[in-house]
Amino acid sequence: MDRQQEFVLRTIEERDVRFVRMWFTDVVGTLKSVALAPAEVEGAFAEGLGFDGSAIEGLSRIYESDMLLQPDPSTFQILPWRGDEVPTSRMFCDILTPDGEPSAADTRGVLKRTLEKASGMGFTCYTSPEIEFYLLKSRELGADGFPTPVDSESYFDHTPGGIVQDFRRRAVTMLEEVGISVEFSHHEAGPGQNEIDLRHADALQTADNIMTFRTIIKEVALSQNLYATFMPKPFTDHPGSGMHTHFSLFEGDTNAFFEAGAEFQLSRTARHFIAGVLKHAPEFSAVTNQFVNSYKRLWGGGEAPSYVSWGHNNRSALVRVPLYKPNKMQSARIEYRGVDSAANPYLAYAVILGAGLKGIENEYELAPEVTEDLQALSSVERRAMGYHSLPSSLHDAIQRTEDSDFMAEILGEQVFEQFLRNKRNDWDAYRAEVTPYELKHNLGIL
Ligand code: GLU
Ligand code: MG
Ligand code: MG
Repeated sequence: MDRQQEFVLRTIEERDVRFVRMWFTDVVGTLKSVALAPAEVEGAFAEGLGFDGSAIEGLSRIYESDMLLQPDPSTFQILPWRGDEVPTSRMFCDILTPDGEPSAADTRGVLKRTLEKASGMGFTCYTSPEIEFYLLKSRELGADGFPTPVDSESYFDHTPGGIVQDFRRRAVTMLEEVGISVEFSHHEAGPGQNEIDLRHADALQTADNIMTFRTIIKEVALSQNLYATFMPKPFTDHPGSGMHTHFSLFEGDTNAFFEAGAEFQLSRTARHFIAGVLKHAPEFSAVTNQFVNSYKRLWGGGEAPSYVSWGHNNRSALVRVPLYKPNKMQSARIEYRGVDSAANPYLAYAVILGAGLKGIENEYELAPEVTEDLQALSSVERRAMGYHSLPSSLHDAIQRTEDSDFMAEILGEQVFEQFLRNKRNDWDAYRAEVTPYELKHNLGIL
């Protein structure tokens, strides 16, 4: 047993922890959990915990259903929302095959593999997400056919004594209690829409943090009789919820994206990284924007990107180079604005990072930055200037993923197939459904 495992066992005893939840994620990013009695934890460290993988979306086929959960002791955490009375904790798990090998179907494993590749090239990858979500009065739809947001405030609004402020204070306090550092939190542009930005951490830790974040936000909302949603575009007339993520690569203590005196202080490595991300973005959109509804955000305005481009300080660009501080080596980074709040964070970060690394490996040249508001140009102008679109629908995105050698390589054969199977099912279900839009336009229903 290693020291981290010993620490976990000691803490369980000292804090009188009664339940140890084993957390993992299915292929679309749904959190799964199984509770262990404290006496079982030592055995789970040594041998893993057996479960039926075929009952989990995208994990295994029925004839190879036995799988193991291997808890990662570095992620041990007491869960504050469960209270002190019956202390409850959790650990994230890796998924193993019965012979103890990492399972090719584990999306956390896909990110780990990509991070190993980065590390083989000398890089550590840091990420910080800006997570947007809507707070609703309940899960029910109002007379207008949409859910009811908790308020009618807008960007950066401050309402003294407001329910949302109270919500953010509680949520941020709880996030800090589980070791997730928050940099900013504010009201976003839509009614009931909020954003919380997490401090940078290595990409695996960030992805774990996002899973915990979603759970905490939902729990705090429920405790206030509210409902929180990470759905990409819950309202036709209000902005969608993005999960813009800032990326940087470090070589030891040196930020490999920084070069003093270069344009925007961007190193060649950073430029190749951006070029790789832009080249592969249409192929990986099915992962970063995985639902039918995701494409309503990408094509619904509200500062969400629709075209493949980069720019500094330009919010219509897919990749933005944030305002830089002169000679601040540590803070040089790029922001990928495409990903939405409902993505599986492990897969999303694996494909974005993997694309950037491809750009570095193959020294892709970066096209000039966009200086116009892309949404304001006509399609003829955009085409003449060489700007391609992101996929226009889940169907379009699936096709581009299917045709992508890059995606097959990054995800590995098993996740590639299981993920696509899941997405094709989504699309088939959607296209068979008669929607309110059609009833309105074809039957004249108001
Ligand atoms: N809500 C917008 C989106 O869907 C982003 C707004 C912002 O720039 O923060 O991406
Ligand atoms: Mg925002
Ligand atoms: Mg942003």
